[in-house]
Formats: sequence, structure tokens, C-alpha cells
Amino acid sequence: MVPPGSRQVLSSGSENPAAAFGENILGAAAEGERIRLPDLSTVFENRAARLRALAPGHDLEGFLRLIAALVTAQHQALSALPPGSMPGASEIGKARLVQRAPLDPAVWSRDESWRVALSRILETVDLEVLPDSARVAREALMQADKDSLESLADRFLSGDVAAGDAAQSVFVAAALQVAWTRMAALLDAGDLAGETEGGDCPACGSPPVAGLISPGGTKFGHRHLHCSLCATSWRYTRVRCVHCGSTDGISFRNLAGTAYLRAECCEACQGYSKVFYLEKARALEPLADDLASLGLDVLVGEEGFARVPNPFVLGMMEPPEK
Ligand SMILES: [Zn+2]
Ligand SMILES: [Zn+2]
Repeated sequence: MVPPGSRQVLSSGSENPAAAFGENILGAAAEGERIRLPDLSTVFENRAARLRALAPGHDLEGFLRLIAALVTAQHQALSALPPGSMPGASEIGKARLVQRAPLDPAVWSRDESWRVALSRILETVDLEVLPDSARVAREALMQADKDSLESLADRFLSGDVAAGDAAQSVFVAAALQVAWTRMAALLDAGDLAGETEGGDCPACGSPPVAGLISPGGTKFGHRHLHCSLCATSWRYTRVRCVHCGSTDGISFRNLAGTAYLRAECCEACQGYSKVFYLEKARALEPLADDLASLGLDVLVGEEGFARVPNPFVLGMMEPPEK
């Protein structure tokens, strides 16, 4: 479903986007929040709006419109969820003691909320923008029984999606995001551990989809990582591998002419992650902008670096070897 992206030239990043923040914010020390839980009233709406803004004329226009429609359906699905079962206070306390994320899919057992979200998404998604593969996947999911849906969810959550399941996995990913985002919004940020050794989400333990640098703190700004599953964001060291936590051997790549986006590449583990630089005129949304810049993934991948793919391209993009 995803073409490999346009051929663009990689540059080693001699221009430092951080310089664009100007020196005048030095000393302002605007502390970015340590952990920001998702705002259910806006999280999916903002994402859909950003995808629609990115789509026109893009190499991946059809794909971005498909995901925009899916994210719109995610927003609608939120309001129809059953109450759901949060991890209890004792479970959260235990998770905190052992520095584990309380909503880690390996620890917190999901309830039926995600399947309710899935059927709502399948019912409401705008069929006009679905390519044939997605229509077939939608039909198959509408017929699927509980056990096969749960098994699809297990495979998605363990990052093990076969190419043949990729189209169905896009819907499954969307439904699981709805369930996890709703749960994350109900947590108390004060219960969550701070910066993790790797860059995994303090709420659910999932890998980040991308990082966003905003002005504040030092003149280089703060980085917040954004969760690929539950939409929580958390502050993370400005230059540090999100996979292995290394601060040595980090280098940057960017597409020539794109100063607002770089790939942070780690020599220690050959991992990389994307870093977006907030500028005044640009309304960035990490998951949407990640999908709109898959060309950078292709090029950095050709250099031998790997990442955990965006949930909507799992099964289409190779995950890193474990
Ligand atoms: Zn998370
Ligand atoms: Zn690393």
C-alpha cells in the first residue's frame, strides 16, 4: 500500500535547525512538562486535520487520505466505548515500584473496549477513500470471530505482522490506539516513571513514533517523544538514542532542503528515530508527520539503520531485528 517514497538526497545535516530558535530564549528555562497525557477531545481530530493538510500533492496522497479517514473514525469511536477496566491503584503502585509502564500490553490485560472501537471504526470509516485492499480487509474483519481478532491484536502488539495481514493490521492498530489512548488519558501523570533507559512510553511501554523539539530549557530546546500506541508524550534527553539509550555515536541525517526534520542515528545499536523541530508556522503532529516523511525512512534504511515502524505501516516496513 505504501510506495517507497520519492528519491531525495540525504545530507549529513550541516545546518542545525536548533539555531532557528534564536538566542533570545536562552535562560527562559520554560520547563516542558515531564509527561503529557493525551487530550481525548483533540488528539485524533488534530491528527486527522494534519493528515488532510499534508495529503494534497503528496507522493503518498491516497495513503494519507486513507489514514486521515481512519483517524476521523477513531475520534468517533472514542465516544462509544464501554467504561473499560483500568489497572487498579495497587497495580499502578506495583508498576511504579518496578519502573514498569502500567498499561504495558504485556502486563495490563486488555478488555473488549478495543473490539468495540474496531467495529465502530469499520462501520464509520469513509469508504470513498479506501483502496481495494483496505475494503477486502474491512470485509474480512467484519466477519472475523473474537478469537481471530484477539490473535491479530496479539500479533500487532508484539510487532509481528506478516505482509499478508498488513491491510487488516491498519484497522486493528487504529482500534487498539483508541482503547489505549482512552486509558492513558485516565492515568495520573504523577504515577508514571520519568525518563526510561530506552525511550519507551512511561504509560504503556510502546516505542515512540517520533520526537518533537520545542523551544525551552537550554537554547537547544526540549525533546518530547510521542507514543505510537497511547499518544502520551514525555520528555527525553535531547540527543540520546531512543532504542538503546546511548548518548555516544549519535549522528543526524536529513533530506536536503528539509531542515525541520532529522533522523537521529545511533552507531551503538544501528537504530534511528525521527526528530521534528517545531517552528512557528508549522502545525506538526508526530504520527501524521512521520507518515508523510517515509522517504527519509527509506534513505536512512538504505544506510543500514532501523526503527520500530509507524503502527500504520507495520507489515509493510521491516521492523528491526531483535
Ligand atoms: Zn504509550
Ligand atoms: Zn542505540
